[in-house]
Amino acid sequence: MLFGRSKKNPIKIADKGVVDWKYTTCGYCSTGCSIEVGLNNAGKAVAARGVADADVNRGKLCIKGIFEHELFTSANRGTKPLMREKAIDAYRETGWDEALDHTAAEFKRIQQKYGRDSLAIVSTGQILTEEFYTLGKLTRGVIGTNNYDGNTTLCMASAVSGYKRSFGSDGPPGCYDDFSHTECLLAFGSNLPEQHPIIYWRLKMALEERKFPVIVVDPRVTMFAQMADIHLPITPGTDLVLLSSLAHVILKEGLQDQAYIAAHTTGFDEFAKLVALYDPTTAAGICGIDEDTIRHVARVYARANAAMSIWTMGINQSTHGSDGVVAINSLNLITGNIGKPGGTSLSITGQCNAMGTREWSSCSGLPGYRALEKEKDRETIAKYWGVDPEFFPKQRGLFMTDIFPAMETGQIRALWLVATNPMTSMPNIPRIKKTLQNLEFLVVQDAYADVETTKYAHVFLPAALWGEKEGVFTNTERRVNLVRKVMEPHGDSKPDLWIFNELAKRFEQGRKMRFPETPAEVFDEIAIDLRIDVPYDSL
Ligand code: SF4
Repeated sequence: MLFGRSKKNPIKIADKGVVDWKYTTCGYCSTGCSIEVGLNNAGKAVAARGVADADVNRGKLCIKGIFEHELFTSANRGTKPLMREKAIDAYRETGWDEALDHTAAEFKRIQQKYGRDSLAIVSTGQILTEEFYTLGKLTRGVIGTNNYDGNTTLCMASAVSGYKRSFGSDGPPGCYDDFSHTECLLAFGSNLPEQHPIIYWRLKMALEERKFPVIVVDPRVTMFAQMADIHLPITPGTDLVLLSSLAHVILKEGLQDQAYIAAHTTGFDEFAKLVALYDPTTAAGICGIDEDTIRHVARVYARANAAMSIWTMGINQSTHGSDGVVAINSLNLITGNIGKPGGTSLSITGQCNAMGTREWSSCSGLPGYRALEKEKDRETIAKYWGVDPEFFPKQRGLFMTDIFPAMETGQIRALWLVATNPMTSMPNIPRIKKTLQNLEFLVVQDAYADVETTKYAHVFLPAALWGEKEGVFTNTERRVNLVRKVMEPHGDSKPDLWIFNELAKRFEQGRKMRFPETPAEVFDEIAIDLRIDVPYDSL
């Protein structure tokens, strides 16, 4: 009786009483969707919608973005700085001055007693680019510990390293618009429909306009695998064998772009010798994909006028993740698929500003893809910031995964966690708990007062959420998106930029250097950094 019913309830669309829509960028994932948050008469965030003419999402949002306005009032937001002498004491509320004075004093005490690198700083992929830059300046130019890393090491380090090994720089060359030009998509270890729904929607839009083969490599029968034209259910951990075998077939059948190889690559002969070992018959026995399928995929990919590869954690989170990224890049180099529309190697990032930290945080080096290992880079940034170049270490310090074991041995005595929670992201939680208990001083800077690490902290600094401050995020395709402030920070929480700047003032070296107060001024400093020959005092 579905169509014969004469009495039906009318469809009602809830009126949430929105009187003002505020533009910002979604703060969940790296897709970079433009979002508008609806405020009611009382200034409360009550709705969210996609921005219709946004280049990335064109009016769409995924389920996370649709409910993102609810974050502003979620339970247990931090409202006041908290302090205690010992981690077994109860916290007491305090003001910002006392919390920051104490934090700076403890950092100095521990560094004087045990050495500069006895303090570790672990940050995130969640804060704004201007904040990353300022934290890097504070850490590298003022505090001076070399044990500074971000949780992005847990996900994107393989992509960073692979891009650097293949191209000499960590700048992903692809963009979403490549879907509209490619003739073949090869996806590794990525479940796009569920993990990056808006990027998947961009792919679907491109496929509706023009059909091209989609090949998914994944041991799991994911949603993406189910919609693919070809699914390669590879044996876990054998992606390098498959990639080498694809290259083997391409070279054996003469499908490579020899002119491109001659013009744009080095080391081709060594590469050809290596992949010669991976004939499809041998590879099939290792990676579990039959040899005919390997040959077929290699031919489809190499014969496409433009072919692209995307990947996420299936490649990155591996003992040989960096090698996997290099092998994907090499596949694209031998087929001439770097530097043309629809031909690319695109790592899909995770956190909303994972790319921003890779570009500007100084976590593994110095800002703007500069390296601590290069004297010229050290000198350039030292001059720009007004510090002695000898103050910089000459190679990067511990990775995040090595910082926690170093807390067990006493090499690290103090830790500052910025918008990251190792008690959910690191393996072996009981071990992480013990390492935190070993510390003389732990500071947790987070938007949430009930994050698990506060149980072991001595100071808690309440931070503002993404939509309570201004700045930019860099998304997966390296598009710089504007984040507008939707509302004032919750309680007495503060933007991370403010916290970094206030801490800088508590160090002698920090008082000598320039720490701009507004995100716009920091952005200008970054922009001039891009033209580093401009003298610093011309700012
Ligand atoms: S796809 Fe990512 S950026 Fe877009 S709405 Fe969803 S969580 Fe936000």
